[in-house]
Amino acid sequence: MTDSAQIPHHAVHYVNRVGWLRAAVLGANDGIVSTASLMTGIAASGASAQSILLSGVAALVAGAMSMAAGEYVSVSAQSDTERADLAKEAKALRNQPHAEWVELRDIYVERGLAPDLAGQVAEQLMAADALGAHARDELGISDLATARPVQAAMASAASFAVGAAPPVLAAALAPAGHAIVAIVGACLLCLALLGHVGARLGGAKPSRSIVRTLFWGVLAMTVTAGAGHLFGAVI
Ligand SMILES: [Zn+2]
Repeated sequence: MTDSAQIPHHAVHYVNRVGWLRAAVLGANDGIVSTASLMTGIAASGASAQSILLSGVAALVAGAMSMAAGEYVSVSAQSDTERADLAKEAKALRNQPHAEWVELRDIYVERGLAPDLAGQVAEQLMAADALGAHARDELGISDLATARPVQAAMASAASFAVGAAPPVLAAALAPAGHAIVAIVGACLLCLALLGHVGARLGGAKPSRSIVRTLFWGVLAMTVTAGAGHLFGAVI
């Protein structure tokens, strides 16, 4: 049953990919945009090539650590909440099984089943796995072991670093005086690629996704470069 080779390919839905795809695209997009913008801002202030490169390396490390911390904290909080809800539900199932059966039956009635059938469905599902049935249909928790904070933290940090690397490499390899062009070019190229890959994996139209990612990248770099130029002239 779990062998994916036996499932016809049209049965593998795109929604199943949405979770990890969203996290990976967000991390990489963040890495590209924030690192390239920061470096463009530093470059626009008239800083040396060494300072630009140094700011890029610092942005990569700081961003990856920040993504890891944020993801760890938020996934842990979600997992704590789910665990508390499940414990409460398990206690209710022990103490008042009939009330819990009524609760589940009413949920199925609300979704369109006739009361008699809803009662049977609730009874049979509860006989098989009472907590699983309530977790899924009452609490909306579909996988009882979904949240993995450490894995989520490492995946976010890695996707940020992958996104941040190209602008840093571009600055390192750019000929003297051409850092901004190299950083902006690397950033736009990577954003277009990310928009394309993200859309393909998610089954959406690439053109719209590419325009969307490019728009925010251009906006972020323009604003940061403007700020760098202004403050570079003042300080
Ligand atoms: Zn319940």
